[in-house]
Formats: sequence, structure tokens, C-alpha cells
Amino acid sequence: ANFTELGLIPPLLARLIELEYQQPTPIQAQAIPSVLSGRDLIAGANTGSGKTATFALPLLQKIQAQQLFQQSHCEKQLNSKNSKGNYVSGLILVPTRELAKQVADSIKSYSVHFNGAIKTLAVFGGVSVNTQMLALRGGTDVLVATPGRLLDLISSNAIKLDRVEILVLDEADRMLSLGFTEELTQLLALMPKKKQTLLFSATFPDQVQALTQKLLNDPVEIQV
Ligand code: AMP
Repeated sequence: ANFTELGLIPPLLARLIELEYQQPTPIQAQAIPSVLSGRDLIAGANTGSGKTATFALPLLQKIQAQQLFQQSHCEKQLNSKNSKGNYVSGLILVPTRELAKQVADSIKSYSVHFNGAIKTLAVFGGVSVNTQMLALRGGTDVLVATPGRLLDLISSNAIKLDRVEILVLDEADRMLSLGFTEELTQLLALMPKKKQTLLFSATFPDQVQALTQKLLNDPVEIQV
């Protein structure tokens, strides 16, 4: 299959041509149509498999569709942007600040043909919290975050998770082995129950399996 056959829209397809992605990797070919259709996903995938684009492309497409829907159906709500508060629509949780930066850079790169309509931010520990608080003002469409810093930002009312529509857990096994289980539990409790969840992990120890059972609803399972 090519990217068009997977159901991706022109602003993304144009970008993939510029990036010289000639065809989908196996995980992309298998997962992107299901994610576009709204299914939960559990994917066994390593770095290098093309996993970032696997969640980033459908996530961007769904957020764009949501924006267009809101513009045509609830114009009033959109005009007073404050009514959305410190919202986030697409949340990607990652274990490390390096991965947070890397994933956010990829998402920004994939979204260039949305002409600034999709705001993406990365938040992670080890740097001043104030800059991140300022950047989060008015909310963000996509947020890439490490769990500890995200909880800090929630405590200071810089962001709320009650409007999350798509949740991605990237490198779930590393996140749990780094000791983020408690943070993750706290974060999940702050999100709506009704959302689409995508979980990526290189390995599936008991801790990860417990998490997938708690979190995923009739997921598509893919191993590459
Ligand atoms: P990842 O597994 O997400 O860390 O991606 C590994 C690398 O592969 C990144 O540099 C991507 O830009 C690149 N990549 C992802 N998908 C494709 C594709 N379909 N064709 C060519 N390169 C790709």
C-alpha cells in the first residue's frame, strides 16, 4: 500500500513526498487505517520501525478534522477561544526529555502544511517550568510530555487533561521501568474515559500488560 491508500489527507501526503518517504513501513501500513478509524492500538515496535509517524500522522489528521468540524458547527464556541481554557487534544507521554523533543520535532515537521493551525508543544523536566507555563497559555492541540513535569504543570493549573481525545503512550516499557507507574496512574485519572488510546512498547513485561488491560478498549494488536 502507499500512503494515499492508507487514507491520509493531502497536507500530510505532500509533506511525506517532501520528506522522501516513498512507502509506509510495515507498522505504518498495518496501523494507520485502524487508528484513522478510531480504534485503540497496541503495537510492539522498536525505534527505527517508523512508530512515530504511525501515531503522529493519524493524530494530526484527526485533530485537523476536529478543528474543521468545530469551525463549521460551533463557531461561537470557537470565537471565544478562552472557553477552551488550557486544553490539550492529543497527548503523547514519553519516558525522556530527549524523546519528547524528538517526537515534538517530528510532529511539527509533519504539520507544516496545516499552516500553523495545529499547535504542538513539548514539556519535560530539567528546564525552567515558567517558559513552559507561558507557552501553554490558551492550551495546545498536541502536547508531548514526560509524566513528572506534566503533573507539575497540572498542579499549577497550566494545563488540564479533561479534553484529551487521543492519548499515546510511547515506549511504555521504558516509562514503567523508569518508575513512572504512579505518575501515569495519576495522569490517567485526570483524562476522560472516552478517548482513543495508542500504546507502543518494545517489550511486554507484566507491568505493561497490566497497563494495557486497564487502558485499552478492544485494541488492534500489531507486532513488527
Ligand atoms: P522512528 O521509528 O519513528 O523513530 O523513525 C525512524 C526514522 O525513520 C525517522 O528518521 C523517520 O523520519 C524515518 N521514517 C519513518 N517512516 C518512514 C517511511 N515510511 N519512509 C522513510 N523513512 C521513514
